[in-house]
Amino acid sequence: MATSNTTSPITPESDTEAKVEAGLDAATHSAPIVDVPYLNRRLMGTWADVRVEARKLAGDPALHRIPGLSMDEHRKRVSAQLQVLVENGHVHRAFPKELGGLGDNGGNITAFEELVSADPSLQIKGGVQWGLFGSAVLQLGTEVHHKTLLPRIMSLEVPGAFAMTETGHGSDVASVATTATFDVDSQEFDIHTPFRGAWKEYLGNAGVDGTAAVVFAQLITQGVNHGVHAFYVPIRDEKTGEFLPGVGGLDNGLKGGLNGIDNGRLHFTHVRVPRVALLNKYGDVAEDGTYSSPISSPGRRFFTMLGTLVQGRVSLDGAATAASAIGLTIAITYGNQRRQFTAGSDTDEEVLLDYQRHQRRLIPRLATTYAQTFAHDELLVKFDSVFSGETDTDDDRQDLETLAAALKPLSTWHALDALQEAREACGGAGYMAENRLVDLRSDLDVYVTFEGDNNVLLQLVAKRLLTDYSSKFKNADAGALARYVVEQAADRAYHGTGLRRLAQTVRDFGSTARSVQELRETGMQRELLTDRVETMIADLAQRLRPASKMSKAEAAEVFNSVQNELIEAARAHGELLQWEAFTRAVEQIEDAGTRQVMDWLHDVFGLGLIEKHLAWYLIHGRLSPQRAQAITAYIDRLIARLRPHAQDLVDAFGYGPEHLRAVIADGSEQARQDEARAYYAELRASGDAPVDEKTLRTKKR
Ligand SMILES: Cc1cc2nc3c(=O)[nH]c(=O)nc-3n(C[C@H](O)[C@H](O)[C@H](O)COP(=O)(O)OP(=O)(O)OC[C@H]3O[C@@H](n4cnc5c(N)ncnc54)[C@H](O)[C@@H]3O)c2cc1C
Repeated sequence: MATSNTTSPITPESDTEAKVEAGLDAATHSAPIVDVPYLNRRLMGTWADVRVEARKLAGDPALHRIPGLSMDEHRKRVSAQLQVLVENGHVHRAFPKELGGLGDNGGNITAFEELVSADPSLQIKGGVQWGLFGSAVLQLGTEVHHKTLLPRIMSLEVPGAFAMTETGHGSDVASVATTATFDVDSQEFDIHTPFRGAWKEYLGNAGVDGTAAVVFAQLITQGVNHGVHAFYVPIRDEKTGEFLPGVGGLDNGLKGGLNGIDNGRLHFTHVRVPRVALLNKYGDVAEDGTYSSPISSPGRRFFTMLGTLVQGRVSLDGAATAASAIGLTIAITYGNQRRQFTAGSDTDEEVLLDYQRHQRRLIPRLATTYAQTFAHDELLVKFDSVFSGETDTDDDRQDLETLAAALKPLSTWHALDALQEAREACGGAGYMAENRLVDLRSDLDVYVTFEGDNNVLLQLVAKRLLTDYSSKFKNADAGALARYVVEQAADRAYHGTGLRRLAQTVRDFGSTARSVQELRETGMQRELLTDRVETMIADLAQRLRPASKMSKAEAAEVFNSVQNELIEAARAHGELLQWEAFTRAVEQIEDAGTRQVMDWLHDVFGLGLIEKHLAWYLIHGRLSPQRAQAITAYIDRLIARLRPHAQDLVDAFGYGPEHLRAVIADGSEQARQDEARAYYAELRASGDAPVDEKTLRTKKR
């Protein structure tokens, strides 16, 4: 079967159009070659050296997940593996230099996310210890906490939990019910769980190993509740492992994945901790019980505190992208070797990846994984510049949080989708634990709801987009506003009745070939993708405008009535961010062959987004039905062109057999296929091959 599509579904209609087509095809005929090591360097990103080193470590069998271990065995293995991370200093990059760290925030996340290839349980358990528990002490505490607490956290002498979620409140952290009431007489905080719903829930390290926890509780002093603050609370006797007086808890037991981690519940009955247990960077209580904070607004203070913990989301974005890359590498490698059915030959069976459907299933997902890889690197750079203090204004922090809240949902959902498709694309073999895909999928499952549930995070993004939108008009004079309203009205008149005015720039006459050429242009893709986000947000803003004059209940109802669209708009924004990052990355590729293939892959991603939302583009008159059809046909052609490069594109991720650890991707399928084909070839050549009944009948006729 053809490995590249030579029949164009789009027929040129004139000489000029034929030239346009020829231009599109020119690179195919000159057979571009992907420079795999070069592309690998680009994919490794800004902290490439750290990534190479961390990936080497992740290839160490001592850190690998062994399928089929019991929960207890898996937990013990992961706990021991954490010690290996301590010994080689892998986990201390983000900590201050004066405490033996490197003060390297971007490098730290880079290294952490690489652990996903060894075992997601190891990545997350390490994330709990150093990325959440340790990081809360670092980011929310002050010098005294850093000096007294961090060394033992870094060395793992104190394994700890990050106790934010409660049984009754997960996404709505501001409403947690655990209280921390200051007692002036004893100079202590009284940590208390007032009812069952206030038990701390799902906490990593709390089931067995944790001897301390950073507990998030409502800070009450002098009869005033100052909102959620973090407290350092010892929970277990370090020698015996027994709960300390007043502390209780339960093991969460077996989960849908990540069973190398001991998640558990905790509750507190008037547990006393000294005043200094308050991690007091953003809020403090004096000896006389007076509360003070550098941030006067309780709302802003709360979001600033939570914002310091954004790195969890950043690292999940990277880890989910890495897991997608691993899954697709396994499926594409196998799809390039396995043969099934004879379609165009009496003797040779077809390679799975030569089937169009197989290409359609895997190559667009590969394009998305590339987009995410580049977008993630930009997120890491932003994260590093904020956390290093290089660009650390309020706006920068907000931008970082919005970026993380937009990208983490998309990449974690994509990981589940890509891993499931990869598993199906490998047939029965994909279902075997020895081929990694099922375990990776079940371990990655919870990434979509922890560190901020995806649907909740996207609402934060949408709210930010709405705020930005309204601030655009904050200083507008009456004339500008009036013009805007008129334009909106005119625009609305076009909706559903034909092409919208703006879409006139996407001229929709002439040949299909030319319109495809236009759609391939970066500027045109940008316009279509941006227009969708802007239109959705403008539309929502208009519908929400009356809410400002309504009662709280009425306003909430109006807001809720557009919630689904809000989330869709945020998603569209996230997709645009990924597309922009992919565009910037492709533009920097100097090697001609690699650039050509990357241009195609980029177009598959960009046009794929437009294809995914075709209904919207058609309903809103942005695309004509003809052009919409042409997009799908053109994506098919691009995918066929990319097919011969699919192996190079996954090899460029740079995962070795020690990371893939899938027996269907280690060359043994190729060996089996070669053996079988050699056997039949020899049999045919020998003249001793039994005659096929069907062939015999045909001959007789
Ligand atoms: C394996 C695991 C490990 C974890 N580790 C920790 C840890 O170490 N420390 C810690 O503090 N927490 C931890 N968590 C908790 C985790 O962060 C929470 O599960 C998460 O914040 C979601 O909260 P929830 O489970 O209460 O879901 P809920 O907040 O109840 O959400 C349930 C569903 O309702 C939807 N929903 C919620 N609010 C809205 C809304 N306003 N609009 C529309 N839809 C909404 C959500 O999208 C979600 O689908 C862990 C959880 C798991 C499963």
